[in-house]
Amino acid sequence: MTDPVAFDVVSEGLAEVHRRLLPLRDGEVASYIPQLALADPDDFGIALVSMGGHRYEAGRSRTEFTVQSVSKPFVHALALSELGLDEMTRWVGNEPSGDAFNAISLEHGTGRPANPMINAGAIATTNLVPAASPGERSARILDTLSAFAGRRLTVDEDVYRSEAATGDRNRALAYLMHAAGSLRTDPVEAAEVYFRQCSVLVNTVDLAVMAGTLANGGVNPVTRERVVAEQVAVEVLSVMATCGMYDAAGDWLMRVGLPAKSGVSGGLTAASPARFGIACYSPPLDPTGSTVRGVVALRELSRRFGMHLMHHPAPGADTVTRVGAGGSGGTGTRVSSGRERVTADRDLLDRDGDRVVLVAARGEVDFPAAERLLHALASAVPLAPGWVVVDLERVTHVRPVAGLMLGNAFERISAAGHQVALVGAADQHWGGVAARHDSVEDALAWAEDALLYELRPLPR
Ligand code: GLN
Repeated sequence: MTDPVAFDVVSEGLAEVHRRLLPLRDGEVASYIPQLALADPDDFGIALVSMGGHRYEAGRSRTEFTVQSVSKPFVHALALSELGLDEMTRWVGNEPSGDAFNAISLEHGTGRPANPMINAGAIATTNLVPAASPGERSARILDTLSAFAGRRLTVDEDVYRSEAATGDRNRALAYLMHAAGSLRTDPVEAAEVYFRQCSVLVNTVDLAVMAGTLANGGVNPVTRERVVAEQVAVEVLSVMATCGMYDAAGDWLMRVGLPAKSGVSGGLTAASPARFGIACYSPPLDPTGSTVRGVVALRELSRRFGMHLMHHPAPGADTVTRVGAGGSGGTGTRVSSGRERVTADRDLLDRDGDRVVLVAARGEVDFPAAERLLHALASAVPLAPGWVVVDLERVTHVRPVAGLMLGNAFERISAAGHQVALVGAADQHWGGVAARHDSVEDALAWAEDALLYELRPLPR
């Protein structure tokens, strides 16, 4: 037996960041909820989950802690799924408050909280989850958090009691909202449901999978279960990007560039859309209430793995693989069906063959790829009425918006007096297409034959 080859550079990267940041001794463990003060300041876990469901971990990534404010985006997802964005926005805003997590950020007059990531907004959001009783509401929330994590979660009753015993500020927020009409349930019960949601036990891997579910368009990357609709995931990630890090949200987006959410127990989770869910846990907090080690770790990992949202993405393979024309004077490469032709016909094709053009594309055609393809078509279409062969044989998928763009272009090309011949894309029912062929050679032969028919002198 030989040792397995060490391929796992992702785990090595996490372990290296973990080793380097463990000696960091800054920050204070939260103590305003007495039970949280018992946390070990040296607990430090990092976890990352890919969209393929692979989990990578370093340090104490399976140590449990209460989810606290990291629950907020996931309960927001539940409320959004039930109410829809417009109704949700009537009750809770989507604006970064720039205030601390426990601030009284309520709109003048309406009492509407600024966003669902601060406590006021979260208490309101929690209590918008439809349920017949507070107990049923808590159960629905626990079910949703469990689905996001991909395993059955439980409530830490000690932390719950500890927060309930000291949670007057949150009750005060609930009372203020109730007085202003922005909270319709009983304020004391509203705060209790919120305290229970904050007291759900998770570990660092759970947090990575939860953010990974949002990054994966609402489908848990490990269990493959759809937890929320893709549109809901997009909406939640948007609020996380602008409001997830409270009064440090701007600096966070600048330095880390990922939608994220932190909590006072030391949890922090971030989503790299279509790539990763990533999380940290370490109890000592900075003055804004976010984990000190976690913030530095996310900064380093975002840089190391190139995850900043505003990065120019790596260029994909070229969409347009070939632009050409028949004849000796055409632009691009010269294309021909390769058919045997008598000398007179060959001469005609040499002279006027540039009225037959070919554009070939490959891969997934989304909006930017369609833009490139249309640009190539526009430059290739001949001046005189001609034949436009479009080879989509190696196109793997046409997004709806790209399908509309291409169909529209074919109709216009045909209205301008050209014949469009298509190879591939059999599932698309575009107007403006004069012929479909099984191969590029057949399509070009069809175009050449039609051109020759027009050019040959009439028999006498
Ligand atoms: N349960 C905590 C509170 O409401 C959550 C706050 C947080 O994690 N930022 O005070």
